Amino acid sequence: MKLVFATNNAHKLKEVRTALTDYKILGLAEADFAGEIPEDHDTLEANSHQKASFILEHTGLDCFADDTGLEVEVLNGEPGVYSARYAGPDCSFLDNVNKLLREMKGKTNRSAQFRTVITLLLDGELHQFEGVCKGIITEAPSGAGGFGYDPIFKPEGYDVTFAELSMAEKNKISHRGLAVQKLVTFLQKN
Ligand code: IMP
Repeated sequence: MKLVFATNNAHKLKEVRTALTDYKILGLAEADFAGEIPEDHDTLEANSHQKASFILEHTGLDCFADDTGLEVEVLNGEPGVYSARYAGPDCSFLDNVNKLLREMKGKTNRSAQFRTVITLLLDGELHQFEGVCKGIITEAPSGAGGFGYDPIFKPEGYDVTFAELSMAEKNKISHRGLAVQKLVTFLQKN
């Protein structure tokens, strides 16, 4: 079975392919799509739906899209849906990490969670799957793997950051991994 994953993030594509081995997951280039996908809503649910609808319109293929936010308790859920552009419009992953560490300076409550919402558009019907991974924001970055906020996020029950786990280990417990597992269960039933 073929599905397009509506993302330009090569790292995510690799993560999802590791988890969804029974399916042929097409990246955007393989689906003959080049360009940016709009995401201008203020919830993860609406953004992932917008991205999937946009790719369905442009390719005509069954597809899914994800949207993820890092929700920090003491910051009232920020950066949340704005996680990608937390430090400004053209910021890097490192800029975002540094901004979050500055905001968290001196804070003792370091609880946070990653939340992913996947929207699948299959035969024109919409299905959404959520994955949550709880943990804490560390005081300093550690590890060279992963992407985004991985070097400063320690998942619950672990003494290392996401950036210190292998991709397979991260997939088993991560927000996106859990949402993908729900997607797989759904696809297997249907
Ligand atoms: P997106 O909208 O799903 O691309 O996610 C928004 C932002 O959240 C990304 O630009 C990353 O900064 C961050 N993010 C998403 N997933 C992860 C992850 O698995 N680890 C670390 N950061 C992530």
